[in-house]
Amino acid sequence: MKVREDLSHLPVLALRNRRQGLVKLLPPLAEVLRGSLMERYLTCGHPECKCARGERHGPVWYLTVNNYHRAKENLEKISDINRELLRRERKKPKPEHGPA
Ligand SMILES: [Zn+2]
Repeated sequence: MKVREDLSHLPVLALRNRRQGLVKLLPPLAEVLRGSLMERYLTCGHPECKCARGERHGPVWYLTVNNYHRAKENLEKISDINRELLRRERKKPKPEHGPA
């Protein structure tokens, strides 16, 4: 499992700049959504099965999505930054309500 980077030492500006850089690395959404759907018929390996005589199991569908892993990695990093920024927002003291 990948170890998450500790972002707590970075200033807010650095976090925002890093997030902006990661957003630029994301492939266009249309490209991420593009993929291919493949129909497959399989054999299970049992010699007595009907598939051994040519009547294969299926259809089994496989969906492959372009750039999925790269986009996922960067989205996770962006989420980590957002989480850190939100954590700091919550730590800020609430503004006092003075007389209007
Ligand atoms: Zn079979």
